[in-house]
Amino acid sequence: MHSFVYPNRFDTIIVGVGGMGSATAYHLARRGQRVLGLEQFNIPHDQGSSHGETRIIRLPYYEDSSYVMLLLRAYELWREIQRTSGQHLLHLCGSVDAGPADSWVFKGALQSAMEYELPHEVLTGKELKERFPGYNLPQDSLALFQPEGGFLTPERAILAYVFAAQALGAEIHGQEPVLRWEALGQGEGVRIHTTRAVYEADSLVITAGAWNDQQLRFLNGLAVPERQALAWFQPLKPALYQPESFPVFNLLVDEGRFYGFPVYGIPGFKIGLYHHFNETGPADAIDKGVYWEDEEALRACTAKYFPDAAGPTMTLKACMFTNAPDGHFIIDLHPQYPQVAYASACTGHGYKFASVIGEIMADLAQHRRSRHNIEPFTANRFHGRYDFGVGGELSNVTQYARREQAHPTRGRDNRRPGSMTSLERPRRGMRTVNRASAKQPSRVSHHDYAQFERGIHNRSDQPAGPSEQRAREQEWRARSFW
Ligand SMILES: Cc1cc2nc3c(=O)[nH]c(=O)nc-3n(C[C@H](O)[C@H](O)[C@H](O)COP(=O)(O)OP(=O)(O)OC[C@H]3O[C@@H](n4cnc5c(N)ncnc54)[C@H](O)[C@@H]3O)c2cc1C
Repeated sequence: MHSFVYPNRFDTIIVGVGGMGSATAYHLARRGQRVLGLEQFNIPHDQGSSHGETRIIRLPYYEDSSYVMLLLRAYELWREIQRTSGQHLLHLCGSVDAGPADSWVFKGALQSAMEYELPHEVLTGKELKERFPGYNLPQDSLALFQPEGGFLTPERAILAYVFAAQALGAEIHGQEPVLRWEALGQGEGVRIHTTRAVYEADSLVITAGAWNDQQLRFLNGLAVPERQALAWFQPLKPALYQPESFPVFNLLVDEGRFYGFPVYGIPGFKIGLYHHFNETGPADAIDKGVYWEDEEALRACTAKYFPDAAGPTMTLKACMFTNAPDGHFIIDLHPQYPQVAYASACTGHGYKFASVIGEIMADLAQHRRSRHNIEPFTANRFHGRYDFGVGGELSNVTQYARREQAHPTRGRDNRRPGSMTSLERPRRGMRTVNRASAKQPSRVSHHDYAQFERGIHNRSDQPAGPSEQRAREQEWRARSFW
């Protein structure tokens, strides 16, 4: 391979220019940092976790309502990169979170919508079909419709971030795998060895997705790649499955937990099954082929719950989740080398956060801490269950994770994330669900930055006093956090 001579000292080097890495490059370059982004494949590519034309974004968050705070900032930053790039990346067509009335998907979505006063409507299966005739859910299922849901276009967004970062002086290299990195003393920088050159930087950000555990051995068993399959079926009634007529969905039914999209990018209704066939392994060993069993599982759900979408197959693709044992993101500094920050933000729901995770990673690279509360995402939540060993190297780590993988205590439908009890956030007291009142859409604006700030900075359970709140609000509005 040809070797080039590059100026080889940077403020920050980023390993992996996918969803998270591209956003990180932009945020750092915007702050005037000298940035180098290194990607092993083309940019973008279809071998990792950020391909397939569309990714769902939704505000009510059944996985844990604590995520809503980050989502509010993520929406804001998606809009910012849209403006900067002139690209349409965020498509709002509404979102549906549906399942049995007592299911974690429906109940969790409703809880977070109510907790954060997000505009929403609760519809029965019958009402949903009347409103959006592409749906054919069981009559007794309940759906939470939220108008600000929709989808992002990941390949375009990665390019938008790369173009914007380059325009600000960032250097981005494709086809340059990072072979290894070494820390230069305590906090004194890093040296990176690639297939083409050797570089140094003050900070290293590792956003290598399904390959994260190859850069950080202690993530082995904590960030586990898993094969996913996706299908695009040509709708029999295309008008029912357009972004104007069909909201994105998360759907819990007897067959599993599915997600899907209106026709966009590829002429087909797109559907996937969370934790498809539970096939895990090292990233390079994950089978990227797609087979008839994959198609059958996705077609069966489509034919039953979206019958007018179940036409001829258009496209099949494979992709990789990277799962944490509790289903939440892992974002942290290296346990031994604080000049190294990393993000494993997937478990099937991370892309929508890429814009704000880019901001978090930029904070960590520059300041070793973030303006956002990432406490719930730090790896030390696994301590006790995991032994991080000497120097962050894994010694006897993965028993819990491997036991969970080998003998999942819950069925596929119930592979829900654990609760994020450590995140202090504004709590207004849960209201009980009253179907009659829940049907009334809430109209309260969610752009409440005082609330946002309390969630980010208030590390105690005591509510901030009014003057403190005002100060924080002003600080946020001035955008001069650092
Ligand atoms: C099928 C599927 C559907 C999903 N649906 C949704 C959804 O609807 N909504 C949602 O919010 N999220 C969704 N997700 C999750 C989301 O896509 C991921 O959270 C996100 O893509 C992860 O981004 P990443 O940057 O961590 O990984 P990637 O985008 O894969 O980036 C990692 C990059 O690092 C590079 N790399 C690795 N090792 C090296 C090395 N040694 N040297 C150089 N480069 C390296 C890789 O090549 C890759 O480009 C879905 C995921 C999948 C697979």
